[in-house]
Amino acid sequence: AASIGVAQVLKAMMTLGIMGNINAEMDFETAELIATELNLELQLKAAETLEDELINEIEDQADDPDSLVSRPPVVTFLGHVDHGKTSLLDYLIGINVVSGEAGGITQHIRAYEIEKDGRSVTFVDTPGHEAFTEMRARGANVTDIAVLVVAADDGIMPQTEEAISHAKAAEVPIVVALNKIDLEGVDPNRALTQLTEHQLTPSEWGGDVEVVRTSATKGTGMDELLETLLTIAELNEYQANPSRSALGVCLESEQQGDRGVVAKLIVQNGTMRVGDVVVCGPTYGRVRAMNNTLTGEPMEEAGPSTPVSVMGLEAPPGAGDRFHVLDDIADAREIAATRADASSRESLSGTTTKVSFNDFQSLLQDGRLGQAEERVKLNLIIRADVKGSLEAIDKELSKLDHPEFDIKVLQRSVGGITLADVTLADASNAVILGFNVIPDEQARSAADTRGVEIRRYDVIYKLTDDIKAMLEGRLKPEE
Ligand code: GDP
Repeated sequence: AASIGVAQVLKAMMTLGIMGNINAEMDFETAELIATELNLELQLKAAETLEDELINEIEDQADDPDSLVSRPPVVTFLGHVDHGKTSLLDYLIGINVVSGEAGGITQHIRAYEIEKDGRSVTFVDTPGHEAFTEMRARGANVTDIAVLVVAADDGIMPQTEEAISHAKAAEVPIVVALNKIDLEGVDPNRALTQLTEHQLTPSEWGGDVEVVRTSATKGTGMDELLETLLTIAELNEYQANPSRSALGVCLESEQQGDRGVVAKLIVQNGTMRVGDVVVCGPTYGRVRAMNNTLTGEPMEEAGPSTPVSVMGLEAPPGAGDRFHVLDDIADAREIAATRADASSRESLSGTTTKVSFNDFQSLLQDGRLGQAEERVKLNLIIRADVKGSLEAIDKELSKLDHPEFDIKVLQRSVGGITLADVTLADASNAVILGFNVIPDEQARSAADTRGVEIRRYDVIYKLTDDIKAMLEGRLKPEE
């Protein structure tokens, strides 16, 4: 397809009686009118700011292979509540917070780096898989390896199933900690069978999933768990370049009285130093002090995979906000201000993206370039009323095999549509299908704000017809 010349656009504008010149800004509706006049389809794309360019440049900056060194794996614990995530982490780091916690529920995202025989592992403990996926939805893939905690007495529970789906969607290796193995009368084989049924076949049964039997209360299997994680890390050769400026993710932050803002960051690449200028989400600042997240000791620098408490930001950034170290505090201030501005505008009036005349042309062209000849991938999350429905849907879906598209079911489970499903869909660009079930209020409103599509069905052939249509790109959004 040929590109559209300025003259043609100006002509179309004149025909429509729209005043403008090459530098004029216009709203999306006007742009759409002109596009229609030119027989084109318009795609909305936010105008790239100078600030974005600076950040994108950092993100795209390739590391010289010679500068890469191995970095510790970042490990996240996932699992059903009360199966022992907190206790395992406590044992590993040698402290006890379970007893001190209100109701025993992990409220915060904890992150600690621990060392064993000169090798390190960074552990991240989130309040649940929702928080894990929430960060992924925000583009913050912090996890290298997921430890799925399964209590041997309970076996796989609904939240374990969800955690499995979330870990699989993140495409990270999964290690199972079969916990509470100290309890009398537990039968590990039962859990192993359940794991196999969930496509996590234990290595001892010929599969590729390491299952470590643990007891967080007795300390059983802790060395083995660490060894397993370190071996997986070695196999995957996680690397980073410690000699570049730091970038990474904010795990959580708070305003702490006279200490000011304390942000828990995890450095993903580069090295962060006291005195560095940081922009993190809609805030910025100069690093005044850094502390080890476990010991509280002051730190002068933090390299790849290191979690660190940072003081000096102007305001608390959000969990999952990415951070970048810049050269110039004025740039950082400007980028933060632009972001803060954009997010307040969004929350006030929905989307008010403006396109300039110059952008408009590239939009026109992009619209025509939209149909790339690659395989179409469709991610699905399926919720149904009963197991039988899930099986019937699976059977129908397997018939839809086609050389031009892949259907990937990230999660299939019995029950209503939850906030966790919406978060997972958002992070993985998936569509949620509900069969004889509805979303709860939280899920509904989250789907609205995040633009996640939920479709509901009560007849199976309608569901499969829709998927066919979706794959052929001719499905209209549900009313
Ligand atoms: P979380 O919700 O997954 O973080 O679970 P917790 O770590 O808070 O543990 C829930 C309960 O199980 C606590 O009362 C722990 O003391 C207990 N627990 C955790 N691990 C073990 C274990 O290996 N053996 C036994 N017997 N109890 C455990």
